[in-house]
Amino acid sequence: MTLRHDALTASIRYDGSARSLRVDATTPQALTGFEGTTSLAGDGHVLTGPLSTANAAALQAAFPALRPQRIGGHRTSVGTGDRTGLATPGQARAFAEQGAGVMPVLAQQSIREMDRLGRSARSVMDDAIFGLVEAGWEGGFGADCDHIKTTEGIDRGLEAGFVMFTLDPGDLVADVTAGVTAADAEALPWDQLEDSLADLKARYVGMTLDVGHSQIEVTEQDVLTAAVKYGRAVVEAMRLYRHVTENAQHEIEIEFAVDETAWLTTFFEHFYLASELTRLGASWFSFAPRYVDGFEKGLDFLGDAEELRRNLEAHHAIAEQFGGYKISLHSGSDKFSIYPLCVEATQGLVHLKTSGTSYLCGVEIVAEHDPELFSRIWDISRASYVRARASYQVSAEEDRTPTSLAGVDLAELIRSDDARQILHVGYGDSLNGTDDSGDPIHDRFLDVVAAHQGQHGDILAAHLGKHVAPFQAVAARA
Ligand SMILES: [Zn+2]
Repeated sequence: MTLRHDALTASIRYDGSARSLRVDATTPQALTGFEGTTSLAGDGHVLTGPLSTANAAALQAAFPALRPQRIGGHRTSVGTGDRTGLATPGQARAFAEQGAGVMPVLAQQSIREMDRLGRSARSVMDDAIFGLVEAGWEGGFGADCDHIKTTEGIDRGLEAGFVMFTLDPGDLVADVTAGVTAADAEALPWDQLEDSLADLKARYVGMTLDVGHSQIEVTEQDVLTAAVKYGRAVVEAMRLYRHVTENAQHEIEIEFAVDETAWLTTFFEHFYLASELTRLGASWFSFAPRYVDGFEKGLDFLGDAEELRRNLEAHHAIAEQFGGYKISLHSGSDKFSIYPLCVEATQGLVHLKTSGTSYLCGVEIVAEHDPELFSRIWDISRASYVRARASYQVSAEEDRTPTSLAGVDLAELIRSDDARQILHVGYGDSLNGTDDSGDPIHDRFLDVVAAHQGQHGDILAAHLGKHVAPFQAVAARA
């Protein structure tokens, strides 16, 4: 596949697992900004160059479709993280084949994942751009700098040209499970909230909250609990919000996310967050509460689907009271049974985030073509799962999985629930680890996948296609 306009045609070339950029131009001027070696071919000029940031930037200058766009609130949208930098072509195919009208967010990585994998924000962007050239995708894409907790993380995303900023004040969400007292509320940072306890109570105590299918009478205890639980998170969210909006040189959009906390976000707490952030001057297009249980890594939804439907209807009803923003579903991969109800309950105002599931498509390639490397990844993942399982929403039992892979059908293993979660959790330690000869797993993993990029794309297009297909019907109506 190629990207083409009047003066330029761009494509990605493979020589085994080694990749390069080829640009065919009608004039030498059209190659300004690209780096590499040029030669004449017939009437044209051909440049062969590296997959470098300079070449990614030159491609963006030449092709508007390679500049990330805002997602906005009017189309369903699906984000697909890419931990290897090789998944974008197959992901783009999923949208082309099964996601008509669904906005793809193809550059999406959290600051935590970037640091874990030693990737810069710009390298995430570059990989997406080269992947889009490889896919010949001209349908536009979003770029989500995910789960940002520091202004330094914002600066990195801004510099790399990210458009969507997912601000996560979750570390400032307080544990209120032991109950809340008036003294706890009095101790909140009222100056920074530009508020007082008396004014807070006057705004909310006794109000009736309409959540579509029901009405909630808001008590003083509800208000104190919401403020103590989320008040400091509101201050932190505004600190991040002001930093990104004051420093952005290009159009951006904001998601607020409190999904990575241990405690469910109640309907009034969602209302409180939206109301307080609005009062302090923020606007956003997407919001991720902490939902009911059942969102485990890599598995279909394990909770009560009807409870989830009513939960999403209420969150959507609250979002409508503040201009109608999207409800964002994180840890959203492989939840095939609930996608239709998520679209219905939110009337299509929904954003789905997936990330690790694309990595598992790469793992499938490794298992087939380099089983020795897979075996090493399996050992590392199993060990890191035992160490790290407490910090994830997971239920896999390592005891139910094999320690030796002799005679095991690896494709079947990767499709099993326990192994999926173990591989999901172990990706960082695996990609940062070394193989049996002491060489970096990361490089060998990428070599194997790149050498089978066609098959990798087929697996991704089919698997991500199942994710995006349920979101396209609504997009077409919008
Ligand atoms: Zn999240």
